[in-house]
Amino acid sequence: MSDLKYVNNEGSFGVVITDKMVHDIFEKCKDAYPNETGGILIGHYSMDLKLAHITIIIGAPRDSKMGKRWFHRGTNGLQRSLDKAWDEHGHYYLGEWHYHPGGAPHPSFHDIKEMKKISKNKNYKCPEPILIIAGNTSFSHWNLGVYVFKQNKYIPLQKKISAD
Ligand SMILES: [Zn+2]
Repeated sequence: MSDLKYVNNEGSFGVVITDKMVHDIFEKCKDAYPNETGGILIGHYSMDLKLAHITIIIGAPRDSKMGKRWFHRGTNGLQRSLDKAWDEHGHYYLGEWHYHPGGAPHPSFHDIKEMKKISKNKNYKCPEPILIIAGNTSFSHWNLGVYVFKQNKYIPLQKKISAD
């Protein structure tokens, strides 16, 4: 298991996720194909707030609704998962992930709108949410898009090659 790091251009902010968790996302996508799917990201920030460490991937809650080009994430059981992560590890909601079946891992207009809503929703306590999008051209060719929403724009993060 190794860490993957996605950073902004300035190198001032990054997201750390393990390759195992990315694999887990791809597996959940495969199960959902040809429909979209998604869920939430749980983890914590580093002391200096420069790195978000993702520690738990939650799949689509049972009350989610999905089609080939759309996904409405439900909320069933999420509070319980968040309470558990908080009680056991002190970890919390960091953002969302979802799947673009056969598509590019770029946020749609709808994705951007939803993330902005989350950033402003006081219940999430997450003004700068992370969005991870998995896209694929086949079941062996996957692409991951990692974004952070700050103020009213989204910043794409690039995979950093060297591990540190
Ligand atoms: Zn989308």
